Amino acid sequence: MSVGAAYDALRAIDGTDVHRDEPMARHTSFHIGGPADLFIVCDSVTALSDTLDILAAEQIPFVVAGKGTNLLVSDSGYRGAVLVLGKQFKKHVCEGEYIRAGAACILAYLVQDAFSKGLAGLEFAVGVPGTLGGALAMNAGSRDAWIGSVTESVTLYVPGQGLIRLRGNDIEWGYRSSGLPGRGIIVEGELRLTPSDPARIRAEMERSLTRRKQTQPMGAASAGSVFVNPEGDSAGRLIESVGLKGTALGGARISDVHANFIVNDGGATAADVLGIVNKARTSVRDRYGIELQTEVRFLGEF
Ligand SMILES: Cc1cc2nc3c(=O)[nH]c(=O)nc-3n(C[C@H](O)[C@H](O)[C@H](O)COP(=O)(O)OP(=O)(O)OC[C@H]3O[C@@H](n4cnc5c(N)ncnc54)[C@H](O)[C@@H]3O)c2cc1C
Repeated sequence: MSVGAAYDALRAIDGTDVHRDEPMARHTSFHIGGPADLFIVCDSVTALSDTLDILAAEQIPFVVAGKGTNLLVSDSGYRGAVLVLGKQFKKHVCEGEYIRAGAACILAYLVQDAFSKGLAGLEFAVGVPGTLGGALAMNAGSRDAWIGSVTESVTLYVPGQGLIRLRGNDIEWGYRSSGLPGRGIIVEGELRLTPSDPARIRAEMERSLTRRKQTQPMGAASAGSVFVNPEGDSAGRLIESVGLKGTALGGARISDVHANFIVNDGGATAADVLGIVNKARTSVRDRYGIELQTEVRFLGEF
C-alpha cells in the first residue's frame, strides 16, 4: 500500500478533495481522534467511483463518514482513507409526500423542510445531529420511531457494480442498526412522509426537543448515547445506579445530566473515553450480569 502514490493520483481527480494526515478531531462531535492517512471528500458519483478505483489499486482500506456524530476515533488515528460525500450529495428535492435526498444532507435540514411542506414522520429526528447517510446506516431514531420506518428506498454505490437501489422494505432495520453498512456506500435516500397539519407537526417537534433539552447534555461535546439500551431497560439508568454519574477520567466524564452520555470537557483523548466505557461495562456486568453494547462506532486501533 502506498499512501503517497494514492494521494498524488487522487489529487488529479476532478471533484475529489484529498488531505493527508488529517486530524479526525476536526471531524467528530467528540472533538477527539488522531490523523487519518487520507481524508477524501468526493463531490459526485464519478469522483467517488474514480477515488475507489485508486484506493483499490493501492490496497488502501477506507471507511465512509458523515458528520462524525457517532464516532470515536482512536488517538493514533486511522490507517487508511476516511471518505466523506460532498456537493452533489447535499441536494434534496420534495415531490408530493416524498423527500429524495443525498446522503450528505444534514438530517436537521430535512426535518425542517418536511415541516415547512406539512409532511409528518420526521419529528422524532429533531435534535439528532449528522447526515442522512449516517442516520440510515445507524437507523437513527428515538425509542419509538426511527428513520427506517419512513424510508422508501436507499441508493448505494457498490464498487465494481455501480449504483444499486434497495427498497426500504427489503432492508433489515434493527435498533440502532441497519443492514446497509458493508453493502456499499449510501449515496441517496428516499423518505416517504405523511401530509399532516403543520401545527400538529410543530407540537410534536417541540415535544421532542423539550424532552431532549431536559434529559441530554445539550451543547457538550459528545457522540450521543454511548451504549444501546438493553432489552427492557435503559443503559443510562444502569450506569447511574452503579454510582458512575459524573465519573471522570482525564478530560472525559460521564454526564451529570444523562449517564449514557460521555462528554469531552476539553482535552479528552479516545483512551480516556474508552477507559470510562470499560469501567461502565465492568460495573454494570458485575452488578447486574448485563453486557452493555456500544452504540458509538469505533474507528482505528483501540
Ligand atoms: C448530541 C447528540 C445526540 C444524539 N442523539 C441521537 C438520537 O436521539 N438518536 C440516534 O439514533 N442517534 C443520536 N445521536 C448519534 C448520531 O447523531 C446518529 O447516529 C447520526 O445518525 C450519525 O450521523 P453521522 O452523519 O454523524 O454519521 P457518522 O457518525 O459519521 O457515522 C456513523 C456510522 O454511519 C456510517 N456512515 C455514515 N455515512 C455513511 C454513508 N454515506 N454510507 C455508508 N455508511 C455511512 C459510518 O461509517 C459509521 O459507521 C446523537 C449524537 C449526538 C452527538
